[in-house]
Amino acid sequence: MAEAVALIGCKGPAQESEYRQILAAAMPEERLVPFRVMDAGERAAARVAIVANPDPAEVAALPGLVWVQSLWAGVEKLVGAFDRPLPIVRLVDREMARTMAEAVLAWTYYLQRDMPAYARQQSERVWRSHAYRKPVDVTIGLLGLGALGSEAAARLLDAGFPVIGWSRSPKAVARVETYHGADGLPAMLGRCDILVCLVPLTTETRGLVNAARLAALKPGAALINFARGPIVVTGDLIAALDGGRLAHAVLDVFDVEPLPADSALWSHPGVTVLPHVSGPTDMASAAATVAANLRSYRKTGAPPQGVDAARGY
Ligand code: NAP
Repeated sequence: MAEAVALIGCKGPAQESEYRQILAAAMPEERLVPFRVMDAGERAAARVAIVANPDPAEVAALPGLVWVQSLWAGVEKLVGAFDRPLPIVRLVDREMARTMAEAVLAWTYYLQRDMPAYARQQSERVWRSHAYRKPVDVTIGLLGLGALGSEAAARLLDAGFPVIGWSRSPKAVARVETYHGADGLPAMLGRCDILVCLVPLTTETRGLVNAARLAALKPGAALINFARGPIVVTGDLIAALDGGRLAHAVLDVFDVEPLPADSALWSHPGVTVLPHVSGPTDMASAAATVAANLRSYRKTGAPPQGVDAARGY
């Protein structure tokens, strides 16, 4: 019998069956078996695991694993989680980048066209116009110029917004003025009308958007966090909103998800809460990407490029 590919960490049997069906259709040459039903021989022989939110003990129970394919783009929960240094391949998928870029543009328009203010006014039956700001007068700063940030930049530029961006290493992105490293950040922040967070969560980016950095944005700026909750210091964000320094925050990600019912963010007038929906994994597209990774591995014997464990992404 052909060696099985393990499927680990789906949220319940319904999700497991859905993911398995879609993945299996994209790779009919592979035998995809959920970890929980693998027998001892299959567990011993498995070289590849496709994981959603895996229990590290299940990964540890596959001693012959050569690499792990994540179904998500963000892998902060996987880096350092396993009993041995396994290559972790994160999901880099065109459809996810397209969806995320669409979300960045949609919520940028929401802020540029003053929708939070008009929604508030409607609830108070207030008829008042706000001065129109052209896209060309609203500078968008992107924290992160990777697979998602660079696609978002292209979409924003096409819509007429000036885009500036920040990365860890120097980066050339067409029509984007770029900054890099800790030293490059202050100069970029001072130019931002809207700051969009698309960096991975690592030891370096945890708490990155704090009081000082929020204060460095243009007065009345807004924040969009579509990356991970702990990158923004929630208390500092609420203080910046309450103090009027920051006009609004659109948050898709939180320290704890689902956002607890008693969180002050739910009812804050300066906050839009989204339930982690900005860049969902499209399973059909993800399955094609994963299948291509597996085929390349079967052909060459070399695992696809994994994340850099030391960098954390
Ligand atoms: P990526 O391709 O790895 O790009 C990450 C970018 O962040 C790179 O430009 C990188 O710089 C930069 N970066 C990393 N650490 C940095 C640091 N310390 N200082 C400055 N820049 C730093 O990742 P991606 O695919 O674009 O995804 C980004 C994140 O989005 C994911 O990690 C995930 O957390 C989040 N996400 C959220 C959702 C959602 O639904 N809310 C969906 C998908 C992904 P270099 O270019 O120099 O490497």
